[in-house]
Amino acid sequence: MKNDQLPLKSLYINPFSILNLRLRLNLNLPLNLNLPFLLLSLLMVSANLASAQSGYWQQKVVYDMDIKMNPEKHQFSGEQTIKYTNNSPDTLTKVFYHLYFNAFQPGSMMDVRSRNLPDPDRRVGSRISKLKEDEIGFQKIDWLKQDGKKLDFEVVGTVAEVMLHKPLFPGQSTELSMEFNAQVPIQIRRSGRDNSEGVEFTMTQWYPKLAEYDKDGWATSPYVGREFHGVFGTFNVNITIDSAYTIAGTGVLQNPNEIGHGFASAKAQTTPLTWKFKAENVHDFAWAADTNYVHTQTKADNGTELHFFHLQDSILDSMWIALMPKTVALFNIMNNRFGEYPYPQFSVIQGGDGGMEYPMCTMITAEGTFGGLVSVTVHEAIHNWYYGVMATNESKYPWMDEGFTTFAQNIVLDSINEKGKSNPHSHSYTGYVFSAKSGTEEPLTTHADHFNTNQHYGLNSYSKGCVFLHQLSSVMGQEAFNRGMLNYWNTWKLKHPTPDDFKRVMEKTSGLELEWYFEHWIGTTKTVDYAIKNVIADGSKTNVLLQRVGEMPMPIEVTVETEKGKTIYYIPLEVMRGAKKPDNEHVKWVQSTDWPWTYEFYDLEVKIPFGEIKSITIDASEKLADINRKDNQFPSEDLIIFKAK
Ligand SMILES: [Zn+2]
Repeated sequence: MKNDQLPLKSLYINPFSILNLRLRLNLNLPLNLNLPFLLLSLLMVSANLASAQSGYWQQKVVYDMDIKMNPEKHQFSGEQTIKYTNNSPDTLTKVFYHLYFNAFQPGSMMDVRSRNLPDPDRRVGSRISKLKEDEIGFQKIDWLKQDGKKLDFEVVGTVAEVMLHKPLFPGQSTELSMEFNAQVPIQIRRSGRDNSEGVEFTMTQWYPKLAEYDKDGWATSPYVGREFHGVFGTFNVNITIDSAYTIAGTGVLQNPNEIGHGFASAKAQTTPLTWKFKAENVHDFAWAADTNYVHTQTKADNGTELHFFHLQDSILDSMWIALMPKTVALFNIMNNRFGEYPYPQFSVIQGGDGGMEYPMCTMITAEGTFGGLVSVTVHEAIHNWYYGVMATNESKYPWMDEGFTTFAQNIVLDSINEKGKSNPHSHSYTGYVFSAKSGTEEPLTTHADHFNTNQHYGLNSYSKGCVFLHQLSSVMGQEAFNRGMLNYWNTWKLKHPTPDDFKRVMEKTSGLELEWYFEHWIGTTKTVDYAIKNVIADGSKTNVLLQRVGEMPMPIEVTVETEKGKTIYYIPLEVMRGAKKPDNEHVKWVQSTDWPWTYEFYDLEVKIPFGEIKSITIDASEKLADINRKDNQFPSEDLIIFKAK
């Protein structure tokens, strides 16, 4: 029985096994500790973490695809077989497929959405509406069968609804097979042919993709330009194309000797060549092909192969060589701090348009500065942690992949560029505070496709999502937070975590109640704002009157500075039902009584005479997204009433 299937109630602890465990662990502990109790506590903690997934299930796929490319016509035909296993407790009578290329047709939902947004992505704009017949994209299913028997299906835009001829019961598998043909659109966004950088084929969201079914039901959002959710499984993909092309993509090439391991060795020839790829434990498969790709490779410290594909060009050649050690550093930092990358390889591919993440690879733009190239590579590669392996439903929770990725990206870039900033996330705070003060912010619970503007999708998913984590590190304490991020990885890797799943891991790691934090930050647009209202001298003491001005409560730290040094007064929130440990042992730390969140004011007693105080600061580390910092400081030219008794 796997740990994740162990229901909590079946956890029976035999006292003899505790003794055995004690002997085996050979713990070196002080004698006065109650060992059985301590071990029981340890066991309960690990059982709690494992039980995070009790009752959890996810569907499984094994794709086999044979693709024949016709580069002149920009079309291809495909045979696809999916072995689909229903691990849900539900009987399924239908399935859905995504046909993303259908979005690239005049009048599609994506086209209309782009033309109606007040701030459309300038790369899309009205371009889809102007596509000609030989420039549009399409995916057409010729026929579809379940276990050899033909099925009825209906295609509406980018979604095909398929009625099964026999129900798929819980625990059962079935074989879904189809033949399809497709046309690759002129690249508008992410996917397509002949983009502005000259990459011939960027093949993302390119095949009929089975929709995910999870505890929330079918994920069938029509494609209007962003965010995905897919079924974990194995992809065996054979692509036959003119031998002049080099292919880069998800998975491990199974026939490198036949191919010449990624080098376009015979450009003059026009014989077809079949590239065979295999990828395991992924939920999507992407690839790109060009006749001018230069392929280089190196390894991360843990042995992960890192491949690089860019179009031959004297400037790009040197930039992409310099990119290699930066990518090695990125993988090393991520493996140590956020969990070890689980796949045998990763490819950085010039896809020619922005940057987009896929399992085991990324498609990035190569135009621009070297700093920009490093930054986009770092961001998209980190998505393999937050999207690839921790595969949240991006449409529902875009902040869990974009925000978490931005958070790790800021840390990695600060490290590999040797900046050593006190807050590498400061630009995310600036973005969030701008959004919070705009009057048009929407809550993080907004579906990625439903934001009123692209700007607020961006500020929410990237900036507010990043601030969510950095601020949480202040609530939990840095050490507990770092442990929590690794616990999250170990508990939820290769699964589909939700905000609640993340919350439970962080609660169990810190021992704090965090519902109030998640609910306010994700479900509302309430803001954090604390103020020093009044400072009163009182003999050997000083009373500091604090005010919660914003509607969102937070635990706060008040730093009091004198000639002798700093003292931090820490005020936990009562609803946390606990307190964090100080990040720095050397700082003077005074824990005050809890602040119940309904109270607007709090009297902080500082045991320092008023005359000795140089300054008082709320949240000196600036981890809180306090939207008005002017009133965090004493002395201040703003309204601070000073009364000496
Ligand atoms: Zn991203």
